[in-house]
Amino acid sequence: MNAANPADRITATVRADIRVLTAYPVPPAADGIKLDAMECPYALPDAVRDDIARAVRETALNRYPPGDPTALANEVRQAFGIPPQAGLLFGNGSDELIHLIVQACCQPGDTVLSPWPSFVYFDMAARFDHARFVGVPLTADLQLDLPAMLQAIAQHRPKVVFLALPNNPTGGLWPDAAVQAILDAAPGLVVLDEAYQPFAGHSWMPRLPELPHAVVLRTVSKIGLAGLRFGYLAGHPDWIAEFDKVRPPYNLNVLTQAALRAVLRHKPVLDGQAARLRADREPLADSLAALPGVTVYRSAANFVLARFSGKPGGNAVHLALKTRKILVKNVAGAHPLLADCLRISVGTPDENRALLSALQDILSSN
Ligand code: PMP
Repeated sequence: MNAANPADRITATVRADIRVLTAYPVPPAADGIKLDAMECPYALPDAVRDDIARAVRETALNRYPPGDPTALANEVRQAFGIPPQAGLLFGNGSDELIHLIVQACCQPGDTVLSPWPSFVYFDMAARFDHARFVGVPLTADLQLDLPAMLQAIAQHRPKVVFLALPNNPTGGLWPDAAVQAILDAAPGLVVLDEAYQPFAGHSWMPRLPELPHAVVLRTVSKIGLAGLRFGYLAGHPDWIAEFDKVRPPYNLNVLTQAALRAVLRHKPVLDGQAARLRADREPLADSLAALPGVTVYRSAANFVLARFSGKPGGNAVHLALKTRKILVKNVAGAHPLLADCLRISVGTPDENRALLSALQDILSSN
């Protein structure tokens, strides 16, 4: 074997199911208009940035992060309305917490289940941790298929059910009664993933104390802090204690902690930005729906899903936008139900206008 080429050793060593995967794609951040990753388009005001700079300067980088995050936990509880009875676990993004849940719950071959299409990492985390992923197809109009969910739960007895509320990439918020039926039927843990909750005006968090087998997962990524990598999980302290056992030591770095504490002192700024995006979502959805051949799915999140079933179709529209330096997410390949679908983050009013005028141009030139 060529000593400089590890191919044979990799084949013999790395799991076959990992070798066939491709890494989570993150397209290069080009200049232009970025509406592909559900980020908040607004930068933090100078006063907040100054506070972050001060907090970072005072942070000791020669020490590991504190073992007891009580101060941060109190501030997070206060800022995000977490019931006092609930335990809390922090993650390096909520992605990490998804992993920890599957690791702690699933033996090889155990089932993780979610309506599908939904957040791709539910499936990825399950595979990485040797669990079996079952995706229960949404209806043709991208709504939750409750009878199919209940049937699949009865059949597969999943250890973990993930429900993204609102759902990514479709934007829909599953009705409370349907979620409650799933909570009642699931034999294991139900994860209520509220990544997009700030745009939905709805949360299961206040009801958490009455839900002994559910946890609520949240992130700050969509409310202006995607670069910080901070997610949190709230639930009964006994569940949280189990997940804490598989958490990598010191998973939350000191700079993230310091910056987050500084930003949370300005929480109304984050709330204001989210409210702005929420108010701009409906006009954007309506304008997209008025374009020829475009179907828009009602969203409770900071993005909308639009199907371009006329000519040109979704793939061509995606490319045409890209040549105009407007990035949106092409989700068409992710699932047959998403044929010709593009997921578009709500941007600033200027960005939304630029997107709509580019789309008018692209759709009328064919
Ligand atoms: N949950 C859902 C439903 C998501 O869409 C995302 C991000 N795309 C995440 C969790 C992960 O967010 P983060 O790791 O940035 O906290």
